Amino acid sequence: MRKIILFVLLGIISVSVRSQAVGTTLITNILLIDGTAIPARKAAVRFSGNKILAVGELTAGKSETVIDGNGWVLAPGFIDSHSHVGNSLANEPEAIADLNQGVTTIVSGQDGYGSYIDSIKAGIARQPIAINIATYTGHTGLREMVLGKDHLNRAATEKEIAAMQDILSAELKKGSLGLSTGLEYEGAYFSSYQEVLQLAKTAALEKARYISHIRSEDIALSQALSEIIKIGEEAKLPVQISHIKLALKDNWGWSPKILAMLQTARSNGVDITADCYPYEFWYSTLKVLFPKTDYTNSASAQYAVDHTFDPTQSVLVHFAANTFYAGKTISEIAKLRNEKPAQTLMGLIAEADLYEKQHPDATAIEGIMAKSMTDADVINFLSWANTNICSDGSNGGHPRGFGSFTRVLGYYVREKKIMSLEQAIQKMTSLSAEHVGIKNRGLIAPGYFADLVLLDPKTVKDNATIKNSKALSTGIEKVWVNGICVYENKHSTKKFPGVFISR
Ligand SMILES: [Zn+2]
Repeated sequence: MRKIILFVLLGIISVSVRSQAVGTTLITNILLIDGTAIPARKAAVRFSGNKILAVGELTAGKSETVIDGNGWVLAPGFIDSHSHVGNSLANEPEAIADLNQGVTTIVSGQDGYGSYIDSIKAGIARQPIAINIATYTGHTGLREMVLGKDHLNRAATEKEIAAMQDILSAELKKGSLGLSTGLEYEGAYFSSYQEVLQLAKTAALEKARYISHIRSEDIALSQALSEIIKIGEEAKLPVQISHIKLALKDNWGWSPKILAMLQTARSNGVDITADCYPYEFWYSTLKVLFPKTDYTNSASAQYAVDHTFDPTQSVLVHFAANTFYAGKTISEIAKLRNEKPAQTLMGLIAEADLYEKQHPDATAIEGIMAKSMTDADVINFLSWANTNICSDGSNGGHPRGFGSFTRVLGYYVREKKIMSLEQAIQKMTSLSAEHVGIKNRGLIAPGYFADLVLLDPKTVKDNATIKNSKALSTGIEKVWVNGICVYENKHSTKKFPGVFISR
């Protein structure tokens, strides 16, 4: 008898221990937008640990944690396919830049630059982070490693390509999503097509992908597009155009033509896609205003002023060589210097270069936010069925770092009605996951990771501006990463459940 009682007692203890360990959470009273673009529906979502267990008409279990969703929309956490926030996570692991706009996973290693996977993982082990991170392997980083930092103004030799392929291949085996290039930038601009193709073939061997800030977003745009299409065709792998845009005044209005070109490539069997951020101005180095990298050529400087950006609306965000210029437009700085904007452009680059020489360890030497696109083209690019939303943002600087996803939901969806909320969310979740090769995230479905965002569709909007680039979004009510609530009441919960995501 005693024995039986003991067994029953042990049974009860083990059951109660187990149900605590399993501890499920039910989010009720929500409008579910599951990431597939099907219409929003009333449902409840149950998750346990880091995984979603069930979706549908669910009733709360006895000891279950129940969260009232207040009738708001529950969506999969957003996946930012082109992010530079990774650089700031060691110091700001809360990742408010992402969480305040509903982003739960960032894809780093963009534009040809990134960190090695071992160092990303070691970084997370040292300082856990609130969001998930995946990465591409950067071409320019490989060039620096193999050719040397001071020898990037030429194409790599066969031997050097082979050495880069070895490093790339090792990173791909560790879970890199693929090869990324930043061909418009100095460090990769002089690489040959063959060099990029051979590296893309290495990525294809591992069933990985190619993502590219293409060789030109202005004067040689069509050649640059042809190049990425050809890479997709010859290396036989999915290719994605990073932050697609028309950044040359002469090309404004061309978006239908460009999309037709991409559509043709797709019907010829090339898996080409794009990501896009929802602003008419970009943020980069002053040097990209010189498509031929001839920074002392006054004709090129004048061309930039006339064709590639508007100096009266373009702000020098930071300038280490003379911090007084920070926050002023190029026209304002030109006036201060009694110069024409073209002259100022060349002068600023020379001064930044000199500063860099004198301070070799300095970072963030100069950066410009340049007005050079139109809303009509942005809308066409965002609306293309094969475009997912990205931010291209950092922790501050351009407002896109804090506001891209909420700007799409507030301005483009609710105000301008360019697409449905369900479509927009699909472009932030399952489509992004598909485009970069992330599995089991981007949908609210059983078995998927519990990366979730609860948002108010009536109020959701971005608040970040050029002057106040870190203003938090409105309407992002709660965010979960791997089943843990990381953001509520516009604050970090100081929980750090983010993981490194392998291909
Ligand atoms: Zn880029």
